[in-house]
Amino acid sequence: MEYLMLLVLLTAASSIALSGDELKQAVDYLKNYGYLHTPLDSMNPNYSPGEIVEALRAFQKVTDLPISGKLNAATVTMMNKPRCGLEDSFNNKSLKYRVMGHWRKKMLTYRIYNYTPDLGQAKTRLAIQNGFRYWSEVSPLRFREVNRGTADIKISFHRKDKSCPVPFDGRGRVLAHADAPESGIVHFDEDELWTEGKDHGSNLRIVAAHEIGHALGLGHSQYYSALMGPVYNGYRANFKLHPDDIRGIQALYGKPNPVPPSRNPSPPVPAGTVPNPCKANMDAVMLGPLRKAYVFSGQYVWTVSNTGYNTPILISVLWKELPGKLNAAVHSQRTGKSYFLKGDKVWRYTGFKLDRGFPKLLANIPANVDSALYLHKNQKLIFIKGAGYWQWDEIGPTDLSSYPKPIGQLFHGIPSSPDAAFTWTTGHIYVFKGTQFWRVNKQHQAVEKAYPLSTARHWMQCDD
Ligand code: ZN
Repeated sequence: MEYLMLLVLLTAASSIALSGDELKQAVDYLKNYGYLHTPLDSMNPNYSPGEIVEALRAFQKVTDLPISGKLNAATVTMMNKPRCGLEDSFNNKSLKYRVMGHWRKKMLTYRIYNYTPDLGQAKTRLAIQNGFRYWSEVSPLRFREVNRGTADIKISFHRKDKSCPVPFDGRGRVLAHADAPESGIVHFDEDELWTEGKDHGSNLRIVAAHEIGHALGLGHSQYYSALMGPVYNGYRANFKLHPDDIRGIQALYGKPNPVPPSRNPSPPVPAGTVPNPCKANMDAVMLGPLRKAYVFSGQYVWTVSNTGYNTPILISVLWKELPGKLNAAVHSQRTGKSYFLKGDKVWRYTGFKLDRGFPKLLANIPANVDSALYLHKNQKLIFIKGAGYWQWDEIGPTDLSSYPKPIGQLFHGIPSSPDAAFTWTTGHIYVFKGTQFWRVNKQHQAVEKAYPLSTARHWMQCDD
């Protein structure tokens, strides 16, 4: 009776007919996620139409819907979108996000207790590491992964089981939840399809960054497009923090520490220590799995995006059997295979899994090549050594006896013996040597004007 009356009221201006069930579900949603407050003295409260209209207006404002206070189809659709399990504790009067607490230290450890089979161990670790990176880039916080003992932040995947005080709900709806500092609990719903670099499923990196935000003390943001917005917005290739996310974390922990200026060239990085991407020598670069640029140096690898470089990690974390100090790396957009060359051997991977029978001895191309790259225009692999190059067809037969040919015939203006080379998503070819890089125009196959440029400044986006 009461619902029926509300239904008429709430849908009056909408052409969509809603069932009483939908209204009940909407009221439950508003109650679950903090838009309607349950009086403490009541087990089964009845909300007044005014309270529900007010709650709907707050929800519509936060999710960027037209603010009507009516339960229309768009609002129901929004309520059915995947989201975080934590409540949105703002109402129409107070849209500032609630701070959930904060850590009393800035160096935090994290431990991943299990891995989603959707991505496997290496990609799960990489996605979560990248999730932490959003926050370390804009704050003085530092994060370190540990694999034993008690960590500050404890990450795991769970199905709809009883291991959580608030169990998950199967595929869809609630994706993950996290506890406020200094608990450090972060749980992901294993019934979701976790992905990286794909438009389908739920992007683990973005959802992890959101939940880590909670674990660091941030509540939900009123801005729909903010990372800390309550509803999952889907995969965005060039995902960035919203100014509101940055304001939030800096309100809790301050601005990032300034990097001490270093004017003198630093000595080469000794083996075994983590390289500084702004100074390290490159062994190889490739546009690899997940459409990321991977830079190899010594025992380490890091990815580079439009916004700069990510923290280096051991190569063996991603490609278990692969040695360090590689000569060259190349990923074929044609077959999806990645090839790594060192000395007289080649390792071939599908994703992060070594293909059977590899490593193999190189045949027909010399040992110790300088670099390798994938050529879009003819889908061939190019290997460069000194001033010569070899072109190889992965599928069709190749007569390598006519090689090497002079690299000037391939790209006009590039240096001989380059350290590394690769083709970027735009089709431009980048060639690296020493502290500089050259860009090859894809139409003319010649180095563009204005090159070479400083690799550290213009490619890694390091400050001086
Ligand atoms: Zn959340």
